[in-house]
Amino acid sequence: MDKFWAITPTQTSTFEAFIPIQNGCNKFCTYCAVPYTRGREVSRPSEEILTELKDLVEKGYKSITLLGQNVNSYGLDKKGEEIDFAELLRRVGEFGKTSGKEFWVYFTAPHPRDMKDDVIEVMAQYDCLGKQIHIPIQSGDENMLQRMNRHHDLATYRHIIQTIREKLPTATIFTDIIVGFTHETEEEFENTRKAMEEFKYNMAFIAQYSVRPGAVASEWDDDVPKEVKRQRYHRLTEELMKHSLVYNQGLIGQTVKMLVESHDRKNGYLTGHTEGKIVIRFASRDTILIGQIVNVKVTSASPLSIEGELVG
Ligand code: SF4
Repeated sequence: MDKFWAITPTQTSTFEAFIPIQNGCNKFCTYCAVPYTRGREVSRPSEEILTELKDLVEKGYKSITLLGQNVNSYGLDKKGEEIDFAELLRRVGEFGKTSGKEFWVYFTAPHPRDMKDDVIEVMAQYDCLGKQIHIPIQSGDENMLQRMNRHHDLATYRHIIQTIREKLPTATIFTDIIVGFTHETEEEFENTRKAMEEFKYNMAFIAQYSVRPGAVASEWDDDVPKEVKRQRYHRLTEELMKHSLVYNQGLIGQTVKMLVESHDRKNGYLTGHTEGKIVIRFASRDTILIGQIVNVKVTSASPLSIEGELVG
């Protein structure tokens, strides 16, 4: 494992970077093979992570994502020897305060079981901790969560969302959902749709279940017909669009910060993401802005993106 961390990271962008901080998984979700292919959770030394992060910020990186299969389980494999995830974020935040640089740090993907209030509280304290949380729910049905061996119930998940809404009112929330997992009934699916209605995600990565060789569920019947999976995918996508559109329309008239990332497909426009990772574009051909954080006044909105005018 030491050799794994020793690999010099190669970043493909000059303003967006990824730092692996944790590898492996102890959760054994029945649809997933990661615990068998990557082994158990192992955390990278925090000193190394912080050194790499500081170096990237000094080089001008603006968006840095801490990566791990269970990123917020960070440190739990080295209890007493290593700091935990909330403390790692706090140290990142303290560095951000003194660095004099503007940058956003994200993390993905956290597991609901290890998503303690202290992580959300630390995020609220520091500007450099990007106000966007990707928190996979996978299903909104209690029986299904057990069949998936997710190690959390809906009440735990609901508490996380309520805490985010209370302590990070401007944060956007993303999730992962699987439709059509083995034996999924219409009622179980409907509970997932209701969860989406309740939690009002800004973005959901919805997967139509397919068997992963080596996973526990690979021994089970993949018995939900493809057409049913497809329909459920579309119904959930429609639900997502309703809520994301309401949120995005609420931004009209506001000035938001965004990281300019590239030319847009629309000729004469540049595109990027807000701090909450909403896709945004504005009219400009000024390529010097790519890699910069700029202010944009939002003028229009669609379910998954917004458009605006450069300010200042
Ligand atoms: S889905 Fe995530 S938490 Fe579950 S076993 Fe796979 S890597 Fe672990």
